[in-house]
Amino acid sequence: MKRYKDLAPPPRTIMTPGPVEVDPRVLRAMSYPILGQFDPAFTDLMNETMEMLRELFVTGNQWCYPVDGTSRSGLEAVLVSLIEPGDRVLVPIYGRFGHLLTEIAERCGAEVITIEAEWGTVFDPQQVIDAIRQYRPALVAMVHGETSTGCMQPLREIGHYCREMDVLFVVDAVATIGGVPVYADKWQIDAVMGGTQKCLSVPAGMAPLTYNDRVERKLLARKSIERGLRTASEFQPAAISGHSRIASNYLDLAQLQDYWSPARLNHHTEATSMLYALREGLRILLEEGLEARFARHAENGAAIVAGVRGMGLQLFGNDQARLPVVTCIEIPPGIDGESVRSMLLEDFGIEIASSFGPLKGRIWRIGSMGYSSSRKNVLHVLGALEATLLRHGFKLPAGEGVQAALDVYARKEEVTC
Ligand SMILES: *Cc1c(COP(=O)(O)O)cnc(C)c1O
Repeated sequence: MKRYKDLAPPPRTIMTPGPVEVDPRVLRAMSYPILGQFDPAFTDLMNETMEMLRELFVTGNQWCYPVDGTSRSGLEAVLVSLIEPGDRVLVPIYGRFGHLLTEIAERCGAEVITIEAEWGTVFDPQQVIDAIRQYRPALVAMVHGETSTGCMQPLREIGHYCREMDVLFVVDAVATIGGVPVYADKWQIDAVMGGTQKCLSVPAGMAPLTYNDRVERKLLARKSIERGLRTASEFQPAAISGHSRIASNYLDLAQLQDYWSPARLNHHTEATSMLYALREGLRILLEEGLEARFARHAENGAAIVAGVRGMGLQLFGNDQARLPVVTCIEIPPGIDGESVRSMLLEDFGIEIASSFGPLKGRIWRIGSMGYSSSRKNVLHVLGALEATLLRHGFKLPAGEGVQAALDVYARKEEVTC
C-alpha cells in the first residue's frame, strides 16, 4: 500500500486577500466534538451566532445567518432567491467581482444591465443613481470592496436612492465585513453578503448574510411548496401569487430561514465545525470591538501604503477609493512579478497575491485582513519585499519602506499617549 506522509502544512505568513491566517482560538473551536443539528446545545449556538451576526452587520434585521458554502454561495443564495426570470437587474462593475454578480444574475434569468468604471476607480454615486433613474431595475447588485482592484465603493447615497425608488439593493461585502465599516441599516442595504475567510479570519466555507423584511416579503411571495406547520389559509402557491418558484433548493433563502427559525424545519445538515469556527471568530471580533477592529485594519493598511511608497514603488488605483485591507502595487518594469512572489513564499514563508484579467502580470496585491492584519506581518512583508526586490536587481532606498511603516505606527502611539 502506498504510504502517505503526515499532514504538515508549512508555517506561512498569509498576506493575500483571502484565505488569511486564522486565530488559534478558531482552530481550537473547530476541533470540538460534533453535536446533532437539533440538539438544543447546538441550536443555542446557532441562535447566539445569529445574535452576533446582527452586531457584525449593525442591523436590527431578524434574518442574519450563514449559508454553508464559500462566500459565493451567499451571493448566489440572495440573487437566485430574489431574481425572477425577466427581472431587470443593474450591476455597476468596477472589478472582477462585479462580473461575478453579473454572471450569477444572468443565470437567474435576469435582464442584466451593466455600467462600468475603469478598474482602479469607483463610481461617483450619482452615476449609479442616474443609471437607476434611466433603467428602472427591480434590483441593484454591487460590490463594496473589490479585492481585484483594491478599491471600495461608497454605498450610502445609492442605498438611500434605491429605498426611495423601491429598488432592492444587494451588496457583496465579502471583502470588507469585519475589517471596514459596513452598515446594513444605516446605508439602507436590503441584503448584505459576507464571507468568512477574509476579515473575519475564519476558514473558507460559510457565507454569513443578512436581509430585511423587504427581502423576506419577496421570498414568501415566491414560496411555492407548503412545508411544515403553516395553516392552509396561509398557503399561497407561487404560481397563484404570480411569482415564479426559486430555482435552487440548497440556496433557497425561504427554506433556509425556516431552518434557522424556531420551527427548525429540516433542510441541509448544518456544518457543525464551521459553525463553531464562525461563532468563535465572531466572539473574538466582538471582544476586540468593531471600532477598534476597523482602526487596526486602517492603521495596518496605512502602514503598508507608506512602506510600499517608501521603497519607491507605485500603488495601483485611485487614492480616494483605496480599500484599506487590500493594497495593489504596480510591478516595476523589468521585474518578473511571479519570481518575486515565489521568492517571498519559498525564502520568507510569506504569501502575497497576483491578480486577474486586465491586471494579470501588472500588479501584486497585499492583503491585511483579520488575524493577518498585524504590525508583525506588515513589517515582515515590507522587509521581505525590499530584500526580494534588491535580489531581483531593483534599485531601491534600502530600509526606507520598513522605516516609513514604523513612522506610521509611531505617529499613532504619539496620538494615543
Ligand atoms: C473573495 C471574494 C468573493 C468570493 O469568495 P469565495 O469565498 O471565494 O466564494 C466574492 N466577492 C468578493 C468581493 C471577494 O473578495
